[in-house]
Amino acid sequence: MAYQIPRGCQDLLPEDSYAWQSIERTLREFCYLYNYDEIRTPIFEHTKVFKRENDSSDMVNKEMYTFQPENSKTSLTIRPEGTAGVVRSFVENKMYSSPDLPVKLFYMGTMARHERPQKGRLRLFNQFGVECLGNKSPYTDVETIVLAYSILKALGLKDLKVCINTLGDEESRKNYRETLKRYFAPYLDELCADCKRRYEQNPLRILDCKVDHEHPCMQNVPKISDYLNDSSQEYFKTVLSLLDELEIPYEVDPGLVRGLDYYTHTVFEIVSLNTEMGAQSTVLAGGRYDNLIPYYGGPADMSGIGWALGMERLLIALEAEGIELEKKPDLDVFVMCLDESARSYAFQTLIELRAYGYRADMDMNGKGFKGQFKAADRAHAHYALLIGENERSQNMITVKNLHTKEQTSILRNDLIIYLDDHMESEHHHQEDSYEKNTL
Ligand code: ATP
Ligand code: MG
Repeated sequence: MAYQIPRGCQDLLPEDSYAWQSIERTLREFCYLYNYDEIRTPIFEHTKVFKRENDSSDMVNKEMYTFQPENSKTSLTIRPEGTAGVVRSFVENKMYSSPDLPVKLFYMGTMARHERPQKGRLRLFNQFGVECLGNKSPYTDVETIVLAYSILKALGLKDLKVCINTLGDEESRKNYRETLKRYFAPYLDELCADCKRRYEQNPLRILDCKVDHEHPCMQNVPKISDYLNDSSQEYFKTVLSLLDELEIPYEVDPGLVRGLDYYTHTVFEIVSLNTEMGAQSTVLAGGRYDNLIPYYGGPADMSGIGWALGMERLLIALEAEGIELEKKPDLDVFVMCLDESARSYAFQTLIELRAYGYRADMDMNGKGFKGQFKAADRAHAHYALLIGENERSQNMITVKNLHTKEQTSILRNDLIIYLDDHMESEHHHQEDSYEKNTL
């Protein structure tokens, strides 16, 4: 019987792992620059952490992997997103009492949503996200957007669009909700079953419906911007003018409401405009939440903002734009054993190479001379060390540069110095020619 990976899941295969690691390095470096610290929360939480009262989003109502261990009555849910767990931890660990708010956190990890798998839409996928918790300032909103935008630019993406909108504060949202209810009431019969539920729970969600988005009534939906109170308008105006000053290109999208119920004020998405992205073109999305920290038991009126980047969608966007991704690096040294009597001498050399920071390997299966050369070739090794009985008995090593094919014999004790000198000078040589090429 053949075993297969569950639908909507992906293995990260070894050949692709270098691309992921290099992207993760960039993400970490940016967080380091912006003074964000890493947080790791459990991959499952008590179900109620995600299933908030009155939450109308599909993610919470239809897509969660909820389970009960066989010997337990506790309902647990594999995280469908990062924010809930991070805010739960922020409150539980009383991080809100820090004298230096906001607390700036980043996370990366696997999320689970039971959705219909498509390109860019998986059931298990990975997010990198940030949460900035404990203050409310347009500067913080803009800082998180700039962080997101700078990361995607640094990774090489060009076809990007920042879409932004505001949902206003609680009062504005309430105004708007009532307006939407009045507006949609005559069409309610024609909308999908989900929208009927949304109408009661959170009519804003109707604007995000993937079934009804072409219904004629969607043409003239009242805009949130007409229902914002003064302070919400002022807040959003400041956010936009800060983005202008920093020359971050954006587009105000009055229909942008985002898929989760908890957002207030600024919401945003970064979309890849590349045609290969298909329907799943949003690589990153986030917004401010005024009510989440109090919901989890933190101080009333304490706000936060965050975003999450879909790693798999990011990779699709990078590939679509033809951006070269990091591949498995070449080996520095391949150690070749030419006589069985020299094997342990060769093996000791291998271990020493690594102790000095050289990426090195050797065949452990007794391959012949030719087979070992082929293996060195496949590993794109820079140097081969030829070690046979002659070398062993004289404490020598034959070093072969596999690029130039030059070969020389040196004292075993001089090996590291030899490699340090030669790898260094060749490295400089390569850098020189790289500079020439780019001039
Ligand atoms: P969508 O409208 O595409 O369903 P969403 O509003 O559910 O997205 P968020 O919950 O805001 O998305 O998640 C942030 C990011 O995580 C998305 O922009 C996307 O890049 C990624 N993402 C979300 N769901 C999936 C999924 N099922 N598979 C792969 N990536 C996903
Ligand atoms: Mg979704």
